[in-house]
Amino acid sequence: MRSKDRAPLTARVLCAAPLAMALALGAALPARAAEPVQVVATTGMIGDLAAEVAGGCAEVTVMMGPGVDPHLYKPSAGDVRRLAGADAILYSGLYLEGQLGEVLDRLSGRVVTVAVAERAVPEAERILTGEGYGVDPHVWMDPSLWSRVPGVIAEALAPLAPDCAADMAARAEDAARAVTALDGWVRESLASVPEGARLLVTAHDAFEYFGRAYDVEVVGIQGVSTESEAGIADIRAVVDLVVSRKVPALFVESTISPRTVEAVIEAARREGHEVTVGAELYADAMGGAGTGEGTYIGMIHANVRAIVGALGGTPAPLPEALGAWAVRWGVAG
Ligand SMILES: [Zn+2]
Repeated sequence: MRSKDRAPLTARVLCAAPLAMALALGAALPARAAEPVQVVATTGMIGDLAAEVAGGCAEVTVMMGPGVDPHLYKPSAGDVRRLAGADAILYSGLYLEGQLGEVLDRLSGRVVTVAVAERAVPEAERILTGEGYGVDPHVWMDPSLWSRVPGVIAEALAPLAPDCAADMAARAEDAARAVTALDGWVRESLASVPEGARLLVTAHDAFEYFGRAYDVEVVGIQGVSTESEAGIADIRAVVDLVVSRKVPALFVESTISPRTVEAVIEAARREGHEVTVGAELYADAMGGAGTGEGTYIGMIHANVRAIVGALGGTPAPLPEALGAWAVRWGVAG
């Protein structure tokens, strides 16, 4: 688990000269260890678990920070330099990082590139979308699937840091255990929401895996990718649903403009149904670095607390396996 006194990932990497970092880490590393392996993760959801797995064996930089939309993100010149200088690039795949394909193609063969979600989730478990987009990439929304990611990362990094392989495998098991405990907590918490109220309306379709895993009906106003804007017909259909089902709350997302959600709320109000805005959900990016929500566990935890509370349920007490995480980040169970 990441400790609170460590600086945020990006700051830590950008500020530290590699030599100074190697010296500072020297005491904790095996005598033969050279400079830590340089890893770039595209999203925070990957980077957070990669940092857990890596420990002192690798330096993990996250390319897309809080509030960044991975569907639309175009790598800057600095990103491309950082990617080219990395030993390994961990990306989600399943076309999440739509603008990154060309850069990854150019670097493959020179840098180890690993599509962690693609590796973790076999085809049979992927959700297909009906709108020509292929596979739904938002796999991290199902912690039972995402719990396999630490193992994929440990395996991918092992050849780059063979002296660390056993340690990384052990840390991956710990991280996977915590994410599996999270899955149990989410399941228990969602089960407290009355069946008729298990309807989640969000700005875009990032929550299909979540809905499938926890038996929640999910409606995204904007579709699976944010590359297409919601049309009038999409908004009309959602308004009808919200009014007829008396949905109490809609949710906005940290990476999406709240405009479409507000349009639905306005239209529902004109038809005599008051619907509120639930807390902002973390869909495609985590919260701020150095906060509980800036961890993978924390983003899911915050989402579930918000959803369960708005839909009339009660979040379950945190399981013991997440106790250390909660204490570290000052999160109340
Ligand atoms: Zn998305």
